[in-house]
Amino acid sequence: MSGESSGPGKGLLERLSEGPVICAEGYLFELEQRGYVSAGAYVPEVVLEHPGAIEQLHREFLRAGSDVIEAFTYYGHREKLRLVGKEDVLEDLNRHAVRIARKVADEGAALVAGNVCNTNVFLEDSQKTKDDARAMFEEQVGWAVEEGVDCIIAETFSWAEEAEIALEVIKRTGLPSVITMAIHREPETYEGLAPEDCCKRLEDAGADVVGLNCMRGPGTMLPLLRKIRRAVKCHVAALPVPFRTSEAEPTFHHLHDANCGCLPEGGTFPTALDPFTCNRYEIAEFAKEAADIGVHYLGVCCGAKPHHIRSMAEALDRRPPASKYSPDMSKHAYFGDANLIGAEYRELSIRL
Ligand SMILES: [Zn+2]
Repeated sequence: MSGESSGPGKGLLERLSEGPVICAEGYLFELEQRGYVSAGAYVPEVVLEHPGAIEQLHREFLRAGSDVIEAFTYYGHREKLRLVGKEDVLEDLNRHAVRIARKVADEGAALVAGNVCNTNVFLEDSQKTKDDARAMFEEQVGWAVEEGVDCIIAETFSWAEEAEIALEVIKRTGLPSVITMAIHREPETYEGLAPEDCCKRLEDAGADVVGLNCMRGPGTMLPLLRKIRRAVKCHVAALPVPFRTSEAEPTFHHLHDANCGCLPEGGTFPTALDPFTCNRYEIAEFAKEAADIGVHYLGVCCGAKPHHIRSMAEALDRRPPASKYSPDMSKHAYFGDANLIGAEYRELSIRL
């Protein structure tokens, strides 16, 4: 269902050896806009409180061409659940998230990915916080494996060392690992490592796929991806946010909207990024460019919508189920094909 290059029974690495693989991310932002997640805490309680909402979004991404259905456990970890006073539902939330992802993945030929992320407790100079982060990874990865995931994504890390701890935990499961870093304004990890050096370290530590996700849009992620692609031999991942970041405003934390005077906090992050959203053609261009330089694990992070994923799939010469409804302006009432639309209405188009 999800495209010609993916077949049932094929694992992540087999699929990657045959060509690009798409993994839609961005569940937090999309479900926040739909009214199921609160911006700020960003805890995926929707998994237990409105499971139909996450199931439907998984399905929309699957129809749009996502080869991997990522269980919605991003920020479904102990620290976040503590923050909202719901540590008691932690295990339930994690297990249910995988079951929902599996249900939808099995409607197509998609893989299910378990997911861990930045813990928000890790600190470089504190062994205690490193132990706490490891314990958080161990419990989430353990539940994901028990629920039968096909691979595990560890994402949005600012410290290489935190990513390495996650990788160590994932490696023990024997499942394929995807490890992606979040690079902020300075093009380096919080330790000061260049992204390509960080990714090389992760590859040397045994990661199957390394790369970047979140924070940067296509324009400010691509230059870093080129260096990463040259530095490692393993598969490279790229999941930018779909926003028009620039050299002056390299991440979505910095986008400044001079045309809007009613922003409650002054800035656009995270709830007023709308005017900077990449259109589907920009995402298609990104997918082609990334694939051309050999970046084959592709997706879109916070801000992603199904039409972005469909564009990405079509840019990779696929025709996922949602392509049945891809634009066909030949049938438009005013702009349509002369053989289909009356001449009178085509002439009226100048009055639109
Ligand atoms: Zn993101």
